[in-house]
Amino acid sequence: MLHQESDIIIIGAGLTGLTLAYLLEETQLSVTILEGRPRIGGRIHTLYPEGEPPQEMGATWLGMKHQNLISLLEELNLETFPQELGDKAIYEPMSINPPQLVVLPANQDPSYRIKGGSSALINSLADRLSKTQLITQQVVKSIKQKDGKVNVTTGTDQYTANKVISTLPPYLLCHTIDMQPQLPSELTHLASQTHTWMGESIKVSLAYERPFWKAENSSGTIFSNVGPVPEMYDHSDLDKRYFALMGFMNGNYHTLTRTERREMILKQLTKYYGTQASTPVAYHETVWREESMTYSDYNSHVLPHQHNGHAAYRDSYWDGKLMIAGAETAAHHPGYMDGAVSSAKHVLHQITQLN
Ligand SMILES: Cc1cc2nc3c(=O)[nH]c(=O)nc-3n(C[C@H](O)[C@H](O)[C@H](O)COP(=O)(O)OP(=O)(O)OC[C@H]3O[C@@H](n4cnc5c(N)ncnc54)[C@H](O)[C@@H]3O)c2cc1C
Repeated sequence: MLHQESDIIIIGAGLTGLTLAYLLEETQLSVTILEGRPRIGGRIHTLYPEGEPPQEMGATWLGMKHQNLISLLEELNLETFPQELGDKAIYEPMSINPPQLVVLPANQDPSYRIKGGSSALINSLADRLSKTQLITQQVVKSIKQKDGKVNVTTGTDQYTANKVISTLPPYLLCHTIDMQPQLPSELTHLASQTHTWMGESIKVSLAYERPFWKAENSSGTIFSNVGPVPEMYDHSDLDKRYFALMGFMNGNYHTLTRTERREMILKQLTKYYGTQASTPVAYHETVWREESMTYSDYNSHVLPHQHNGHAAYRDSYWDGKLMIAGAETAAHHPGYMDGAVSSAKHVLHQITQLN
């Protein structure tokens, strides 16, 4: 078993963990990031298949209100572009009514995508970590405070640090990690009812040779109360070289097989666009509730965004040796990418104040 020491251990190489490590590069502190998955990015996951546009299986959109994220993108010289909605949408109100084309009202708060895909942000942060040690496939099992230090044990190795920052969704931290000493019971109770944003979602994307939805009397924007896809959008790349439609499938279909989900979606799209929709170049999906490093079943019913941004997450624990970060803990836009950046900034402030 390998045993390594550093000043700071960050658990999780999602947007929070990587932003924090990027900010800590300015300090003298030695930093190790332990990531459980073989890939970095967490809930940000862009696919880059040859001959297709970058396709977002996780976080996609930001708005002008997301100022923490926007300043980080600017600092990293990453560009954004508006999500194309068109001026019409296909709207399906009820199964007994045919789908109709409706005029969309002027959008007061447009959404933007990151040029090159959301993972461009993740890769750009990772590229800038010259001092940080980033180790993947290290699933953390326990975090224990002993003799003024914190020991972190993964499935294979052991790490020691002066401070540990968890960026796991709070529910996962309290339900999958053995913590010693135990966290205050009010905090574990809070975490057991803290929603992990989008953990139940199914993201789907279909790449096509031609953007047949960009035609008069058609649209790539779909809103359906019938489903199985309630919302879908054009997902072509900025240069309009490759074309795709991307949306959410009703999360209840997680029990079906991939083939069954694909067939249901193609049937829905064929209803709107005819047979040209039935032969995509590729079909991609991510069922997030099957991702054990994002989602675990709740013991009781938890509402979307429940306890996101709770102030208890922004305290430090174990005499300043443990901090709980992550998008769900942020004071601003908790659950979103902006929240992840805001959380990283807050922890940087805590660390530099306590040192
Ligand atoms: C389908 C979907 C769509 C979304 N759409 C949007 C959107 O359009 N706009 C937006 O702003 N936000 C969106 N979000 C939310 C956004 O993705 C998150 O706010 C953000 O990515 C969270 O970053 P994070 O680093 O805090 O958490 P995470 O990305 O969850 O990172 C936590 C990291 O910890 C790792 N980990 C977990 N357990 C362990 C363990 N035991 N040991 C070691 N490592 C571990 C995970 O693998 C992960 O890398 C979406 C999310 C999903 C899933």
